[in-house]
Amino acid sequence: NIAYVSGEFIELDDAKVSIQDRGFQFGDSIYEVIKLYDGKLFKADEHFSRLLNSAEMIRLNLEYNLEDLKKIALEVVDKNTDNQSGSLYIQVTRGIAPRNHSFDFDLKSTVIMYLLPAQPFPSELWESGVNAVTLPDTRWSYCNIKTTNLLPNILANQAAKEEGAFEGVFISDDNIVIEGTSSNIFIVKDGRVITHPINKKLLSGITREIVLELAEENFDVEEKIFTLEELYNADEVFITSTTKEVLAVVEIDDKVINQAKVGKITKELHNLYREYKQDLNNF
Ligand code: PLP
Repeated sequence: NIAYVSGEFIELDDAKVSIQDRGFQFGDSIYEVIKLYDGKLFKADEHFSRLLNSAEMIRLNLEYNLEDLKKIALEVVDKNTDNQSGSLYIQVTRGIAPRNHSFDFDLKSTVIMYLLPAQPFPSELWESGVNAVTLPDTRWSYCNIKTTNLLPNILANQAAKEEGAFEGVFISDDNIVIEGTSSNIFIVKDGRVITHPINKKLLSGITREIVLELAEENFDVEEKIFTLEELYNADEVFITSTTKEVLAVVEIDDKVINQAKVGKITKELHNLYREYKQDLNNF
């Protein structure tokens, strides 16, 4: 497995970054995960654009543009032809410096890319749906930035797992349903597909965007906030992410949704997503 680390291609086991890297010491870093389908990177432009956006929002001087990043990504894929269906992990840190909270703008950022092995999503879950639990959203005010500061997400995800749930769903102090620990969440009510609008409270998922586009062609769609009560009373609930695609949630906390069956609209959106994926000629 050949990884890219700041200008060099190197065997993953030998790939190292400094203990003075700000990504390690402060979580001063951003990331993306891009799915590989048949050796092709799915929605690479969108992921790299979001990475560049995250960089700008944390005022990180990234010396690579979108084309440079894509070129490196393609080289990593080319050097690992035995991995055709894993994911490309990309992380950019502000770089290496003596430990100090404030930073210099001329630091050379650390850029790493390597392929994660294929972890086939258990496809029976798309048939059965999954359960989720809700948790207070303990995160910060810039959840639109895809930072590696994921402690609240991993603790919430772990708590969900320990309660026997597949995903944890963040609920704000004012009872609004925000997003999953690593997914966006939608409800369907009276034929309408509803999801939280994009703002600083949540990550603008690439899958969310695709699903919204597909939904708009076929159903009434509304990007608007909804409450925990509306979540419990929804006709259908589903979550979206690069790996989960469109995944039905059939139980939330102790409430059963749609008689514990995958809903019709959820199923249709997943089928549309599958078709969209196949039709796309990604770079
Ligand atoms: N929200 C959060 C907090 C995430 O971490 C993720 C993905 O990991 C998503 C939403 C879904 O994003 P995407 O569809 O781009 O995978």
